[in-house]
Amino acid sequence: MTDASLDASSDLLDRARQRVLDEGRGLGYDDLVAILRIPDSEIPALLELAHEVRMRHCGPEVEVEGIVSLKTGGCPEDCHFCSQSGQFTSPVRAVWLDIPQLVKAAEETAATGATEFCIVAAVRGPDERLMSQVRAGVAAIREAVDINVAASLGMLTQEQVDDLREMGIHRYNHNLEAARSYFDKVVTTHSWEERWETCEMVRESGMELCCGGLVGMGESLEQRAELAVQLAELDPHEVPLNFLNPRPGTPFGDLPVMSSADALRTIAAFRLAMPRTILRYAGGRELTLGDLGTRDGLLGGINAVIVGNYLTTLGRDADEDLALLSELKMPIKELAKTL
Ligand code: SF4
Repeated sequence: MTDASLDASSDLLDRARQRVLDEGRGLGYDDLVAILRIPDSEIPALLELAHEVRMRHCGPEVEVEGIVSLKTGGCPEDCHFCSQSGQFTSPVRAVWLDIPQLVKAAEETAATGATEFCIVAAVRGPDERLMSQVRAGVAAIREAVDINVAASLGMLTQEQVDDLREMGIHRYNHNLEAARSYFDKVVTTHSWEERWETCEMVRESGMELCCGGLVGMGESLEQRAELAVQLAELDPHEVPLNFLNPRPGTPFGDLPVMSSADALRTIAAFRLAMPRTILRYAGGRELTLGDLGTRDGLLGGINAVIVGNYLTTLGRDADEDLALLSELKMPIKELAKTL
């Protein structure tokens, strides 16, 4: 590497330190593209800065969440990364959970120390049957266990947003998934703008908005930076960051797994774009980063994890994650006592 490129990286990190760490303002598009291109030798300094930003603007606590799938598979949409789409040959069967199973999963999640329990359904948007299942499920969970209930049920109408809020849903997840300029390469059955509209309605309703995306889907580094900027504009409470885990039978099933260096650059870039958000490790990190990389990300801007299994793939053992947090002296965020 030339002295000039090292100087450029060091100028970039100095500028980021002042703007993000000292002034609390996220980096803009051009600087994020440069961060995503930073040479491998500068990754440790980049992660250190992202970690300092997280500690100063969010603190040492880590938010732990569990997710459960109320309705798995058979989705009519065609998100090319998703094995739950009914349009591909991926081996995921359509299955519904019942209320006792849902309550049991919430209790098991709370026992890990998690504060959020997210009910997920593979649908374009909820119909009456799903809304009444969720209503009954939330009531039963609230009777049995002290945990925030979140939901991820696809695109919503304003009436559904109001209903979910009235049921006591604490946070709603709806991802942008990809940058606007790449979205039509990922999904053809709905638009990026439809996703954005649901996110805006959720944010304005007073529920917390959880909105993130997936990287490693063949997008350019510029489009990765674009996604970070668009998320920063939406200003969600939480951003789940997924790395593509290419699933057999999906259109993205043959894409290569993202390198761990690129994954770490992306984590740091997202933290520097959004200094105050909860930045959560979501799907694909085991494959992309492995154990060592998981640690690097937690010391490079991540401040939330999902424990246990994901919707269609197995995650790390919850105990391993909790042991790692304790070793890193990162306390698990506690449930707000005002609930
Ligand atoms: S990501 Fe969601 S909307 Fe898209 S196919 Fe999968 S379950 Fe359906």
